[in-house]
Amino acid sequence: MTVTTNLATPARALAIGAHPDDVEFGCGATLAKWAADGCEIHHLVCTDGSKGSWSPDEDVAALVAARQIEQRAASKALGGTGDVAFLNWIDGELEAGLRQRWEVCHWIRRLQPDVVLGHDPWKRYRLHPDHRAAGFLAVDAIVAARDPHFFPEQGAAPHRPSSLLLWEADEPDHVEDVGRFLDAKVAALLCHRSQYRTTLHIDDPDDVDQVARFRKRMADRAADHGTLAGIDAGERFKLLSEL
Ligand SMILES: [Zn+2]
Repeated sequence: MTVTTNLATPARALAIGAHPDDVEFGCGATLAKWAADGCEIHHLVCTDGSKGSWSPDEDVAALVAARQIEQRAASKALGGTGDVAFLNWIDGELEAGLRQRWEVCHWIRRLQPDVVLGHDPWKRYRLHPDHRAAGFLAVDAIVAARDPHFFPEQGAAPHRPSSLLLWEADEPDHVEDVGRFLDAKVAALLCHRSQYRTTLHIDDPDDVDQVARFRKRMADRAADHGTLAGIDAGERFKLLSEL
């Protein structure tokens, strides 16, 4: 297997995640690197994030609103200047159906990204159904977006991205060198304050030791990802470049 590194900085990138915070975990440092080099960064979040709490008494409407604000702040922390869009399908119930594909296709045609990033839907033993569905939506919507006979009622010009990068890849074969941009990734993840307990595993946001341990976990993961290409700190992906 040939491992490639470092795509040319795209003019526009669209990252498609199932939930607020997935994009930051999957490709946050890569987006920060590209944003610093002039790339327009866009986020598309498929669900409303309404399951993102372990508290049975959670005010779900307030949680959904908070997570949108957190996601916008996280995009800014990455240097993002583009759209942060929410499809608002119910968290945990996302399907890779035609209606959802229509919407994702619409955003691809509207934003015309050179690179699309998303979950790898073919990752074996992946538990979360939304991550599978969001991955398939990214793939299927690219096929629809590039061909004028799919969804012609959209009235938008077809668009074919040049590359698709899939994070949490079953067979990673591409690494982005992200050394200087790990801080931006961590800063963006720390914007997701409602998720500290459930996904960041920080009980107390004001506990500097816990935050430091989280930072260390992200650095360790980047070091691990980098080994595929002999890079000190990386984010690894499956690269599809014949779209
Ligand atoms: Zn998720």
